[in-house]
Amino acid sequence: MPGRMTARAKGSADDSVATNARPATHSADQRAGTHPDAPAGEYAALLRALPYPAALIHQRANMIEILAQNEEFSQFFEEVEGAQPAIERRANRQFDWRERAEAMFQSHRPSDRFEMEFQGQLGTRVYGCSLSWVEGNGISESLLLLAATDRTSERKAESTLRKELLTDSLTSLPNRTGFVEQMEFQLDSPKGDVQRSHYAVIALDLVRFSRINESLGAMAGDELIITVARRVKSVLRAGDILARIGGNEFAIFSHVGHGLSEVLQIAERIRKVFESPIRLSTYLISVEVAVGCALGQETEGDAENLLRQAQAAVKRAKRSGALEVYRAHVLREALKRFTVENRLREAIETGTLELAFQPLINLQDESVKGFEALARWNDPVLGQVSPTEFIPVAEESGLIVPLGRWALCECTQTLANWDRRHGEQLPITMNVNLSPVQMVRDNVPRAVEEALRYSGIDGKRLTIELTESALISDPDKTRQLLAALQAMHVTVAMDDFGTGFSNLASLQALPIDVLKIDRSFVKDMIGDKDKVALIRAIISLAGALGMKTTAEGIEEKAMAAQLADLGCHFGQGYFFAKPLTSAEAYDYWVARNRETRI
Ligand code: C2E
Ligand code: MG
Ligand code: MG
Repeated sequence: MPGRMTARAKGSADDSVATNARPATHSADQRAGTHPDAPAGEYAALLRALPYPAALIHQRANMIEILAQNEEFSQFFEEVEGAQPAIERRANRQFDWRERAEAMFQSHRPSDRFEMEFQGQLGTRVYGCSLSWVEGNGISESLLLLAATDRTSERKAESTLRKELLTDSLTSLPNRTGFVEQMEFQLDSPKGDVQRSHYAVIALDLVRFSRINESLGAMAGDELIITVARRVKSVLRAGDILARIGGNEFAIFSHVGHGLSEVLQIAERIRKVFESPIRLSTYLISVEVAVGCALGQETEGDAENLLRQAQAAVKRAKRSGALEVYRAHVLREALKRFTVENRLREAIETGTLELAFQPLINLQDESVKGFEALARWNDPVLGQVSPTEFIPVAEESGLIVPLGRWALCECTQTLANWDRRHGEQLPITMNVNLSPVQMVRDNVPRAVEEALRYSGIDGKRLTIELTESALISDPDKTRQLLAALQAMHVTVAMDDFGTGFSNLASLQALPIDVLKIDRSFVKDMIGDKDKVALIRAIISLAGALGMKTTAEGIEEKAMAAQLADLGCHFGQGYFFAKPLTSAEAYDYWVARNRETRI
């Protein structure tokens, strides 16, 4: 133990006790407590007059020594020296008084009060201790008076009372206060195990319990509660805490490494345990339990809050009849969505959205085939928001219509600007994404026609990227739209192919020109024979249907090479370039065009 000093053997003439040593015996002289330096008998008389254990302490050569002590202290000393630390250590409870005395000698603070708690031969013992300086003691060095008062019975009574206050007398389970306290203890104690850092509070509510109480009487009601508690307890795991938090409400605290799936298992076990009715004297009562739960993680919220959330969930469970889960992030997400929607509306109105352009490369000759326009939003409040976050919000709120129109106009306009800058028409195309929601809500052929007309761009140079879900939602409308686009010579590409439910055969009937193989296939293709076989199949089927293929998410040279070998026409990915600003994209084309020409 740091700061604890080694025993120092003292001559028999010296009465003081090097307290770090455990003296084999305590002589009567030592108990009388005289010291060669001290005015004889003065302290002994003073200490003897005190009705509780008391001793004078000094520090010599870094050793804490007892200079004089009374009879009561000798007994106390022996008891402490033979004791073990208390099983459960509490704040401001001390096992070794020497540590506190040492600290006093170092800090010279005026006084100190603390409690000592230890496992003596008679069980847990608690002493209230005080340390204070003895002024004008007639000797040159500083002396401390240590006084200890036995508080064991007081504390025992307190602890019994506390236990009663925290326990439900009917079931002997913790009550609401006790439950929260135990939860707090669990949440505060370090786990060191990631699995254990997830926890759940499962709240149970006995439906129609008051009716049983009314019709069969309070005694029967009590019996029912006891049986329910016993049954629930029988299906819990070691370490789970069950409590009765209200008249007909129970709660369980449980560490759940696997989150919700583990909660579902616990809920299922509870449901099963109530499949058989409960016998109360001559009645058989079917008990219905509503179950609600709240999941938490180490860093989130407090115990009381988690319990309230579980109770809110159980309230809903009573109405729905199913297990309800309170998810804190549901509310947070709703709020975030609301903010995103409002800020996005403003961004569209004030024209602060931007487009980034990612090159599409011809894998066979490495020339730049064109660019895909991707929306970018840097909000002054929210920062850079990803399209994977704001596009769904835009779709849900209808903002996708003005956003999609803007993207169409902006990308064709950019292409026209590049042409102007180059002095002649660039041999490249522009891809733009079209949301299925816009297909339903907007007059897309008209929007496309306008964008082409305003920019003066030929329909041949524009590619509209659709997703599979667009084809499924309204096949008739899709067919009409595709026909209209075909009439304007606009190319149609199927984006993220392979992630939806459509099959190649269903695409056969539609005028689709390009299949974009989703990044999820391309990502781990190197060394994965199954993935490669799948990509090969898509490419050959697409070829049979007269479609070209583009591979998304090419991040390595080896992928580009293998895809080219497989006969894939175009590629896109970080290996070639990340999405670029308009100026960067133009420069990219210029540089690349020079290279491929050479
Ligand atoms: P998408 O149309 O499939 O676009 C490709 C996405 O993959 C882009 O993400 C691009 O940055 C990313 N990407 C490209 N190469 C790589 C690569 O090598 N590795 C990885 N990890 N990612 C790569 P982004 O820009 O975040 O866009 C996400 C999606 O949001 C787009 O997927 C598209 O569906 C949608 N989106 C973006 N802009 C618009 C728009 O103007 N209108 C509509 N309706 N949707 C848009
Ligand atoms: Mg796309
Ligand atoms: Mg895609």
